[in-house]
Amino acid sequence: MDRAKTAYEGTPGETAGTDDIRRTWAEVVATARRTTAEGLVVGTSGNVSARVGDVVLVTPSGVPYDRLGPDDAVGVGLDGRQVLGRLAPTSELPMHLAVYRTTDAAAVVHTHAVHATAAAGLVDELPLVHYMAGALGGPVRVAPYALYGTDELAAHMLRALDGRTGCLLRNHGTITYGATLAEAYDRTAQLEWMCRVWLTSASVPGLTPALLTRDELASATAKLRGYGQRRG
Ligand code: 13P
Ligand code: ZN
Repeated sequence: MDRAKTAYEGTPGETAGTDDIRRTWAEVVATARRTTAEGLVVGTSGNVSARVGDVVLVTPSGVPYDRLGPDDAVGVGLDGRQVLGRLAPTSELPMHLAVYRTTDAAAVVHTHAVHATAAAGLVDELPLVHYMAGALGGPVRVAPYALYGTDELAAHMLRALDGRTGCLLRNHGTITYGATLAEAYDRTAQLEWMCRVWLTSASVPGLTPALLTRDELASATAKLRGYGQRRG
């Protein structure tokens, strides 16, 4: 692997420009810092990536996010070959690349958020306590456990992600993707919040939370597609 490149030079046919790379790397670092600042991970846990043309910018493995600067960008191709940076990419490259190879994702966020990780150890699918499951495409599945950083974990994740933009990883955490880093991050925050609601309501002795039916969730999922301000 060639880790000597410090500035992205590109190759013929690639669509990523250096300005795009610089701007997107700054967003990747800001998003990774947000995961620690907002308590979704501790230390160097979790990882963030964004796709710019043929290049996937990823956080480096085991480096505190507050130490990352503009010259620390790490870029890989969809085949996993490193095309930019001296630092070794995240150990979870197989999960990130699996998402980019199989979806139209432009950004991926992986965390070890507390309530999501707790919920992932209790159920195979997050009970439908809230309609915001629709923002992730439907009931959120839990991928079976596999060792971190392996192709096996990436394969479990892909199955759990089918028709969804996020899933839980047993004994591990969350992974979500989106059309932007902001969207991928927001889906993680919503997922963690929803797991917290479920754990809270399921913990009341003698009572069990009311759950939505699949039909009720389908209506919410459809309506959420038009949620917010109309574009254009
Ligand atoms: P990296 O520091 O290699 O990104 O690993 C963190 C992690 O969350 C592994 O699952
Ligand atoms: Zn992890």
